[in-house]
Amino acid sequence: MNIKALRDQFPIFTRARTSAHSFVYLDNAATTQKPRCVIDSISDFYSTSNANVHRGLYHAAEQATILYEASRAAVAQFINAEKASEIVFTKGATEAINLVANSWGKSQLKAGDVILLSQVEHHANLLPWLELARDKRLTIRYIPYDQTTKKLTIINLDLTDVKLLAVQHTSNVLGNVWDHDFANLIALIRAINHIGGAVLLDAAQSIAHLPIDVQDLDVDFLTFSGHKMYGPTGIGVLYAKSIRHDELQPYQVGGSMIYHVSYQAATWAAMPHLLEAGTPPISSAIGLHAAIDFMQKNISFSALAIHETMLCQQLITGLKKMPGMHLATTEEQSAHQHVVSFYHDAIHAHDFASFLGEQNIAVRAGNHCAQPLIDLLGVPALVRISVAAYTTTHDIDAALSALAAAINHLGSIQFSLS
Ligand code: PMP
Repeated sequence: MNIKALRDQFPIFTRARTSAHSFVYLDNAATTQKPRCVIDSISDFYSTSNANVHRGLYHAAEQATILYEASRAAVAQFINAEKASEIVFTKGATEAINLVANSWGKSQLKAGDVILLSQVEHHANLLPWLELARDKRLTIRYIPYDQTTKKLTIINLDLTDVKLLAVQHTSNVLGNVWDHDFANLIALIRAINHIGGAVLLDAAQSIAHLPIDVQDLDVDFLTFSGHKMYGPTGIGVLYAKSIRHDELQPYQVGGSMIYHVSYQAATWAAMPHLLEAGTPPISSAIGLHAAIDFMQKNISFSALAIHETMLCQQLITGLKKMPGMHLATTEEQSAHQHVVSFYHDAIHAHDFASFLGEQNIAVRAGNHCAQPLIDLLGVPALVRISVAAYTTTHDIDAALSALAAAINHLGSIQFSLS
């Protein structure tokens, strides 16, 4: 993997190089930057073939439909779905999870059924289930997070009455919370498969970092956002396995998702159209296709794991030298990581983030849409640094120097990294 050649494809970095301030972007878990091919694909579509899909009988409309459906086929191939009809385009991972809760959960779960979540979920994979549980008198059970091992504990889990397991593949706060090779996640999925439960895997954080094969994982639902994998905002994916299609009810009703409508009633179209009411995000779907092509051409997942783990280790080594600094994420060398979260005894996370922000170094601070986890950790907030394929050792050095300067400046402590 040629990091320099890959990075040169991102206009935001090449532009920054020629301006007075370089841009050190370390907020990739929030969203990634976009390569030229993704930006161009959207502008080309609007310049050459803009039309609505699945409707018109003229050339541009047919072309738009071909491009939109080609994106669905590319997504299916990217995650090894068996059929393109298993891919539903949504606004993002949040909408995809809400869609499962409303389209599947409402009709398939009944009072007393158990949903198994983990203690480290993003609000997007917590709140839809809390709402559904309240409406339908379901029980939510949590896989405990062990703060010593910094892993989820799956031994002695009570799986009685579990009808749905809905968990993150990797955490936006802690990275890999399963074991190194995800064997305990797979074991848990198999156990749920065995008792006839359904599995939803929130791949929002893993989709740009790990190879995903939905047939191999054997999940019923998989959700992710295009904007975290070098694609545009406004597009996400719900993978729904074919055997679950008969269990899905429309989430929204309107144009495109019907078979027949009268003044009294309607019948619905088959998947994936059943869950795509109205005009879909056509240009964003085309941009997502370009992002998949970009990843397949430029990124090898095995080389990426080495690159990102190396960057995180560089960061961890530097952070450990800083007085008062504590790591929330694992220090394990072998764990695949793309995020490192930390806090300081005396300096608030937001103060670090704004100090770095003034130097055009983008990191994130706060509760990271995981308030229950932050409460469990007993910290007011965390600073999070997250890397991507284009992140360089220079970026990490810049962040470490700025963090050291922040401690010297804000904490009135004098120390040096070297
Ligand atoms: N799940 C996880 C683990 C996430 O990190 C995020 C975004 N931070 C989401 C779900 C929701 O994604 P989006 O905001 O793109 O809908």
